[in-house]
Amino acid sequence: MKAIRVRKFGGPEELRLEEVPEPRPGAGQVAVRVRAAGVNPYETYIRAGSYASLPELPYTPGSDGAGTVHAVGEGVSSVRPGDRVYLAGSLSGTYAEYALALETQVHPLPARLSFAQGAALWVPYGAAYHALVHQGGARPGETVLVHGASGGVGCAAVQLARALGLTVLGTAGTPAGRELALAQGARAVFDHSSPGHFGELERAAGGRGFDLVLEMLANVNLGGDLKLLARGGRVVVIGSRGEAVIDPRDLMGRRGSIRAFTLWALAPEEEREIHAYVGAGLASGALTPAVGREFPLAEAAAAQAAVMARGAAGKIVLTA
Ligand code: NAP
Repeated sequence: MKAIRVRKFGGPEELRLEEVPEPRPGAGQVAVRVRAAGVNPYETYIRAGSYASLPELPYTPGSDGAGTVHAVGEGVSSVRPGDRVYLAGSLSGTYAEYALALETQVHPLPARLSFAQGAALWVPYGAAYHALVHQGGARPGETVLVHGASGGVGCAAVQLARALGLTVLGTAGTPAGRELALAQGARAVFDHSSPGHFGELERAAGGRGFDLVLEMLANVNLGGDLKLLARGGRVVVIGSRGEAVIDPRDLMGRRGSIRAFTLWALAPEEEREIHAYVGAGLASGALTPAVGREFPLAEAAAAQAAVMARGAAGKIVLTA
């Protein structure tokens, strides 16, 4: 089978399409014919060798994917060959024609969703739900700012927050990104590349401030976010690419707090809750992943360059 392999940490050119043996499922494992794989920013940090935890070389990147069950190992009872599924992590990497996964990493993909949409589920919706509910303590009736609403996590966060009964404001750096965030259910969307956007957000929050801010680029925005908080407001850091300067007094007067997380430290019960909520939202139609650009598997380098570029408009996926 064909798979992307990384033999040394470095630039996107280290992502090479190679011929490797097809994986065979052991006990409790499932082999999935991957039709689409999600491309996430953290996969570029790993490829560059700059992430906190790194895989052994060589490796195949990717933890999001969707396709059909190809074969199941001994003891697997929840899926059968031919079933449409999405992956929430894998043992062998999803930038490949076939991926090996634990039975617990394989989840049903409703017929109304394409494989590309299925590849946009785990990391984006997992991070967004965890940020809103487990970290942010979101409650119906609250107002949330999704600071970076045009990308994979941002679109998922807007949809989830609406489904949970929150009022959502967002930001995006391009007209296409702002339109997309509005289409996901945001009440208003502002341009985070405009120097005046913090003032616009403050006015839009009507003097009360935001109960919750989900932040995709904390090194740029965290200091300003704290000044936007309502009393008891929470900022949840989802993404950051460097250090941030804050004034702790902005938190003190508001009784505000900053939370942060990585998806890789989720408790099993949190993970089960996410899949239950997302599964229900997919079935009811409340949640529908927004796919942006699609690249063939062989163009993984271009796809990873695209996910790090400005101008996001939905999830970037590889198709195989
Ligand atoms: P993505 O699809 O590439 O989207 C990036 C988002 O960041 C876009 O909405 C982009 O908007 C926005 N952005 C760019 N400049 C910004 C600014 N100055 N202020 C606010 N937002 C800005 O990436 P993603 O998958 O949504 O991930 C978003 C971030 O969360 C990444 O840093 C990623 O590493 C992180 N993340 C963390 C976890 C975790 O476990 N903590 C999980 C998933 C993702 P425009 O392109 O429209 O400017």
